[in-house]
Amino acid sequence: MTTTLGPGRGVAVLVDEEAVVRVKAVIVGAGMGGMSAAIALKQLGIEVEVYEQVTENKPVGAAISVWSNGVKCLNHLGLEKETAELGGIVDSMSYVDAFTGETMCRFSMQPLIDEVGQRPYPIARAELQLMLMNAYGFDDIHFGKKVVAVHDDGDRATVEFADGTSDSGDLVIGADGARSLTREYVLGHPVERRYAGYVNFNGLVEVDERIGPATEWTTYVGDSRRVSVMPVAGNRFYFFFDVPMPEGVPFERGTAREFLAAEFADWAAGVQTLIDKLDPATTNRVEICDLDPFHTWVKGRVAVLGDAAHNTTPDIGQGGCSAMEDAVALQFAFEDNPDDVSAALAAYQAARTERAGDLVLRARKRCDVTHGKDPEKTAAWYDELRHEDGTTIIRGIVGNIIGGPLT
Ligand code: FAD
Repeated sequence: MTTTLGPGRGVAVLVDEEAVVRVKAVIVGAGMGGMSAAIALKQLGIEVEVYEQVTENKPVGAAISVWSNGVKCLNHLGLEKETAELGGIVDSMSYVDAFTGETMCRFSMQPLIDEVGQRPYPIARAELQLMLMNAYGFDDIHFGKKVVAVHDDGDRATVEFADGTSDSGDLVIGADGARSLTREYVLGHPVERRYAGYVNFNGLVEVDERIGPATEWTTYVGDSRRVSVMPVAGNRFYFFFDVPMPEGVPFERGTAREFLAAEFADWAAGVQTLIDKLDPATTNRVEICDLDPFHTWVKGRVAVLGDAAHNTTPDIGQGGCSAMEDAVALQFAFEDNPDDVSAALAAYQAARTERAGDLVLRARKRCDVTHGKDPEKTAAWYDELRHEDGTTIIRGIVGNIIGGPLT
């Protein structure tokens, strides 16, 4: 059997004298990681089947900030125009004193854009997801297929579904999120996620400049809490509130306004406007968790990708970007090893575990400072913000952005 590659970044085709045999990948999960991987592998000519347990495109969470490294991955997947259309324009960042409403610092994003060569884009999740699904082929995604078991007989890897059916491929990619079943298979044991100590409320509201300027990422900080707005396309702000609290506190969906009004009663006028404007029915509440980094992402023909491989707190906005980086790294690994699944998966693992683990730990560190794990450090950070001209913050963000497959 020989392998031929098509033009440019190539189409991986195994040629077996008379019959043409294509590598087949089964992807579990149609989130942003699974869909990015599906597009990336399909671009190589790999046959892809995507299985998703839910029956429609309804992601949990309102939006994400796709930092420049994530945008570069989407561009690489051929989605430059679509991504720019969905992205909010963030020209500046500011931190605001929670109680007085005084601006602690404000600075342009241009130095960051100049340094890394790409503007970041906050994007509504459902729209990001739909863009990826359409790019792959919405009708080719198998919805309503919950994977209940994964196995590998050496020649083929197989997933079994709750409805009693199954599918096999040359490889299985587990992009099945933070509570991944595939991860359990790859590691050989379940792992407990770590509660990070706070709950995040998030949603979308119409832009209102009483909360923050329309092209600024505005963050109110105080009392180890954070309230933030950033623009997404369509004259909307993505907003979130971080509230440190114990794990497992009961909450009735639809009561976010009363809850946040009580919790943030003494916060500045902009925060009160946001609380008045948000729609409690569509405001999400998420207990934030992460996982200690681990370096085994592959077992035989089965590999994990995205949150299944590196579940992080959202404190540096890199979880989804890292999933997109995984997808591009997986594509490069198969491009370099088109006829050898095992070598390709080994190359993918080698390319990704350190970088992704580093981002998880950076986010954890940021999380602790933002949310008052050591109140003295949090107070010192507020002090720094009053003297910040943007240089230190941008240096930190650039440090997160660089180091992926497209640098
Ligand atoms: P998911 O998006 O969780 O998708 C997994 C998919 O697999 C789901 O559709 C699920 O239904 C499906 N699935 C699970 N189990 C099975 C099964 N057994 N069978 C079939 N299908 C299955 N990241 C950023 O880059 N920037 C941000 O600003 C940002 N903000 C965030 C804010 C919050 C509050 C949170 C919680 C996260 C944030 N993230 C951010 C992280 C980002 O949301 C995740 O990293 C990203 O969604 C991971 O994508 P994924 O495809 O790996 O997993």
